[in-house]
Amino acid sequence: MTTEPTLLSSLTENLELARKLRKLEIHFYPDRCRGVWQCYEVCPVGCWTPDYEKRVVIFQDAERCIACGACVLQCPEKAIELR
Ligand code: SF4
Ligand code: SF4
Repeated sequence: MTTEPTLLSSLTENLELARKLRKLEIHFYPDRCRGVWQCYEVCPVGCWTPDYEKRVVIFQDAERCIACGACVLQCPEKAIELR
């Protein structure tokens, strides 16, 4: 008989994975940013904030980043690296 994962066991597993992934860090190159906001739109945890006047994003709350890589994949200017 197989054991169904519980909500708690799934959360624990995902948090462990997130912690492992978080050994990676975001490296942001604002000079390449054109302010197209894809990173802001795809980040599931709200690490990016648009500065509409300067037309550049601000990376903040790095602790929240779960290293999903979505912002890296979406940025058309290669302004974000995860390593
Ligand atoms: S890697 Fe994922 S969680 Fe981290 S800043 Fe990019 S989109 Fe947000
Ligand atoms: S996706 Fe890239 S170019 Fe667009 S706002 Fe984010 S960092 Fe800047």
